Amino acid sequence: MQQSPLIDMLGRQGVTRRGFLKYCATLASLMALPPAAGRAMAEAIGAVRRPSVIWLPFQECTGCTESITRSHSPTIEGLIFEAISLDYQETLMAAAGHRAEAARDAAIRDNFGKYLLVVDGSVPLGAEGAYSCIGGRSNVDILREAAKGAAAIICVGTCSSYGGIPHANPNPTGAVAVSDVIKDKPIVNIPGCPPIPVVMTGVLAHYIAFGSLPELDAKNRPKAFFGETIHDRCYRRPFYDQGKFAKTFDDEGARKGWCLFELGCKGPVTHNACATVKWNGGTSWPVESGHGCLGCSEPDFWDAGSFYKALSQPSGPLNVGLAATAGGLATGAAVTVANRAKKSAARASHRTITVEDLEK
Ligand code: SF4
Ligand code: SF4
Repeated sequence: MQQSPLIDMLGRQGVTRRGFLKYCATLASLMALPPAAGRAMAEAIGAVRRPSVIWLPFQECTGCTESITRSHSPTIEGLIFEAISLDYQETLMAAAGHRAEAARDAAIRDNFGKYLLVVDGSVPLGAEGAYSCIGGRSNVDILREAAKGAAAIICVGTCSSYGGIPHANPNPTGAVAVSDVIKDKPIVNIPGCPPIPVVMTGVLAHYIAFGSLPELDAKNRPKAFFGETIHDRCYRRPFYDQGKFAKTFDDEGARKGWCLFELGCKGPVTHNACATVKWNGGTSWPVESGHGCLGCSEPDFWDAGSFYKALSQPSGPLNVGLAATAGGLATGAAVTVANRAKKSAARASHRTITVEDLEK
């Protein structure tokens, strides 16, 4: 791989070329891409083509931006942000007020038809959009305008993907997802409250490298990261299969690391990559820290989650989902095992990509 200004810049920040290649290899492996794709990703990111990205924050708590800026290996993950031209991001940009709005207008005008539009936060439609405005304009108005010139829209977080917490009952602002408003553009949903940083940078890296979006599922989520449930890949799964469940958060079973299903874990019906990618530099993830999955990356998670009720208790749509898809818990376990075998077989066609593959 040729040396590039980006690699030189990373070198000055203490990131080695090998570290950069390892990051690209890891991303490509996570996305189940073949070794050649990992190399293309490294070369394209290194070439710094800098596609324009406009990031609109609507009805949100800034948690998604916080998550991205605290991504693991900040310097290497930050390279994704060096490889794009982040032309508008209210929280991170230096400009404010009229200058910020002018920067957004210029980015839309100069890159019409080519920029990526990133959205975090839901879109309030109540009171003609008056619940959330920027510079005197409603979120829905700004979204419609910015979406017209976007090549694709990336919804970061559960709020922009499904409406999220603002959408929870009684939804006083009439909050909806981006896909409820925009119907004529490719949309990628990266749900999670907050979403996993590597998933976000993985989607951006794929677009930078190949000029296209990764393969999506029926809910427009990247299959590579949302193709399995938390339960499919959970390290406590053997205890679930053996029927060993913690009954309280501090009993003997909890101390032995038994399954948290009876304490309300929503892992069996939640699609996300927490169990494999983990959080905080791959340090840990909620179930590893002793708390069940809340189902934060599923639609209606706040209303449907009922955090500490086990899925077997009739308490909401997530439970209905489990019953409907698995026909009850016993069958559910069998279905999940069968799914896991099928997915493992599919994955077997792509071996893990190494740094050596990329250095060839
Ligand atoms: S129910 Fe939760 S804790 Fe138990 S195996 Fe599934 S994901 Fe892990
Ligand atoms: S473990 Fe579940 S609730 Fe926690 S971040 Fe992952 S998907 Fe969300």
